[in-house]
Amino acid sequence: MLGSLRSIVQEVNTARDLPSVLNIIVRRVREDMHTKVCSVYLRDKQSGNYVLMATEGLNPDAVGQVHLAPGEGLVGNVVTREEPINLEQAEAHPAYQYFPATGEERFSSFLGTPIIHHRAVLGVLVVQQAERRRFDEGEEAYLVTLAAQLAGVIAHAEATGALANIGQQRNETKFTGLAASPGIAIGRAHIIAPPANLAAVPYACSMDTEAELALFHQALSAARSEIRDVGERLKNDLNKEERALFDAYISMLDDSSIAVEVCERIRQQLTASRAWAEVMLEHVRRFEAMSDSYFRDRAADVRDLGARVLMHLRQQEQSRRDYPENTILIGEELTASVLAEVPREKLAGLVSVKGSANSHVAIIARAMGVPAVMGAQELPWEQVDGVDLVVDGYRGELHIHPGPELKRRYDAIVEEERELARNLDHLAKLPAETADGHRVRMWVNTGLMADVVRSLERGAEGVGLYRTEVPFLLRDRFPSEEEQREIYREQLQAFAPRPVTMRTLDIGGDKALTYFPIEETNPFLGWRGIRVTLDHPEIFLGQVRAMMKASVGLDNLRIMLPMISGVGELEAARRLVDRAYNELLEEGYQIERPPLGIMVEVPSAVYQARELAKRVDFMSVGSNDLTQYLLAVDRNNSRVASIYHSYHPAVLQALLQVVTAGHETSTKVGICGELAGDPGGALLLVAMGYDVLSMNATNLPRVKAALREVNKSDLDRLLQQVLLMESPEQIEEKLRGYLEDLGIGGLVQPKQTEPSSNS
Ligand code: PEP
Ligand code: MG
Repeated sequence: MLGSLRSIVQEVNTARDLPSVLNIIVRRVREDMHTKVCSVYLRDKQSGNYVLMATEGLNPDAVGQVHLAPGEGLVGNVVTREEPINLEQAEAHPAYQYFPATGEERFSSFLGTPIIHHRAVLGVLVVQQAERRRFDEGEEAYLVTLAAQLAGVIAHAEATGALANIGQQRNETKFTGLAASPGIAIGRAHIIAPPANLAAVPYACSMDTEAELALFHQALSAARSEIRDVGERLKNDLNKEERALFDAYISMLDDSSIAVEVCERIRQQLTASRAWAEVMLEHVRRFEAMSDSYFRDRAADVRDLGARVLMHLRQQEQSRRDYPENTILIGEELTASVLAEVPREKLAGLVSVKGSANSHVAIIARAMGVPAVMGAQELPWEQVDGVDLVVDGYRGELHIHPGPELKRRYDAIVEEERELARNLDHLAKLPAETADGHRVRMWVNTGLMADVVRSLERGAEGVGLYRTEVPFLLRDRFPSEEEQREIYREQLQAFAPRPVTMRTLDIGGDKALTYFPIEETNPFLGWRGIRVTLDHPEIFLGQVRAMMKASVGLDNLRIMLPMISGVGELEAARRLVDRAYNELLEEGYQIERPPLGIMVEVPSAVYQARELAKRVDFMSVGSNDLTQYLLAVDRNNSRVASIYHSYHPAVLQALLQVVTAGHETSTKVGICGELAGDPGGALLLVAMGYDVLSMNATNLPRVKAALREVNKSDLDRLLQQVLLMESPEQIEEKLRGYLEDLGIGGLVQPKQTEPSSNS
């Protein structure tokens, strides 16, 4: 069963469009289950009815003709019940309906299972038999498993089809994801695809077939000589058969039948990389389907060979590409490092199929003020290279081929945003305090040099979190101690005499350095943050030495340790910091010992807050990770994004506990997670007594504006009410109402007139 499931899913995954996907499903399921009929019904978005879309065994003319409302007929009953219906004699069931067009009277037993995607019934998969017999448990389980596996593929193919059908007429098409960085971007899509993944090559055409052919031949010959070199180097270590394998690979890359097939597709105006990927994947599939295990194993070699040539093709394509004005980067899984690829003045927006608002790329996008939508799972991202689109980072929507009316509405929102920003400009010089004089420190989170100017313009009083991993992410090797000193000096100097809190390297989780790969099955619970640098004292020592050297004469440095989960890690890190400090004194540097603090972002640190607070100069809560670990919700996974909630009562209780414990030992407590930059969240934190709120520069004026509108005594009352609430939704509603009553609801986002779309 497993083998058959896997092979159907594999075949379906490589289909080009929705009709092929459905045809493969009905053909393969009918064969594998030995049934007379297999059919798929899909929901029609407009009418909400379920329409017969593919069948093997029913009259093919009935495709597109049979429509059932939810609750109507057996198929409609599968929809409303959201579970399988398994009948020995279908026509005896009260809900049975007869459709003459299908020729169905010849079939008696019926098994239908819903195809459910994101809690909605996308369609129904049905098998039927002529004789009267109930499908057995194994058959039912097989169909349910298959439907669950195929739901995502069908949803994706549906979305791709919608786009392809209306693409020619350039109709507006809307896709939804998660609002990850506020703002509106109107621009042109530029796809970022992983360089060596055959299955992720964007569908793209090129008119210049000669250039594509030349590109292809260059890539082939580069890959050939690479393989020849490797074969030559390993010559003495290989036996005769293994050497023959190398020769076989080289001959596959000669102007063999594969190359001929690829050239044919290029002549039909596919780009070289797309043509190559299509042909190679077909070969991989053919090998995978072979019954001889030796040949099946060769599938991996063919895939490898394909990836090698693809790498060359993409390198050359990339070097030829220019970024248009208002580039909107789109990819299956964008990471922080891609942000460096586009000149800042050309980067308008970001869209990622995977990831969520708490992924680091989204956090950096917010800091840069670049609108972003993450988790746009239905977007056929390979198909949209070069198209015009609007990214709505407030609602988490994108509109492909926006028409003039839609653009006009979005232009109005952009203008409204500018107006709001202008109205907040005057706040930069005003103190961050409540109307009744309660003063709070409002600092910023930084990572790029570009953040500095924006932060100072907006009146930042210090840096609460400088993410040192950002300059590490943007390189292809570890920066040297001297390179780091220069980067850190720029930050410290730009903000001096204001304090700058530099966090030691926090990699792992979703922050991977290309040159220091960490492969783990559970990366957010794995080798992350301080765990990595304690295991690599040479990296840690080099970094803190660079920070301290950079602070000579400025003395505004604070050092902060990420992911501390207990006293032991803190003590070990402190010993290294002391060592670095003493070394530098011995080397003749005149440096003040920087305050040392920790991030509280692991639940164990909440429960040990008092013990930790006694040992440090300051603490800062990382509410992004703390929320993830308290609620057991991967911050990077769009599937569970709706249950990631920093207003969760458990998170608020933890936040209160940390600040209370810190203050008991007179330790200053701040927060540098995204919650601090959310006007409603920030007001609660002020009421809890947080001394420092550190946020991205974009949000600083909004939070300051909210703070200056309220009295601390009112906030205390608000906090007491909120702490009695039992769900994040209730708390969110309460805070929204509170801001609206104060007349500052618009700070959360500009008042948008609903921008409508045809889809
Ligand atoms: C946090 O976890 O809240 C935090 C500020 O750190 P990062 O988002 O970089 O993990
Ligand atoms: Mg963190």
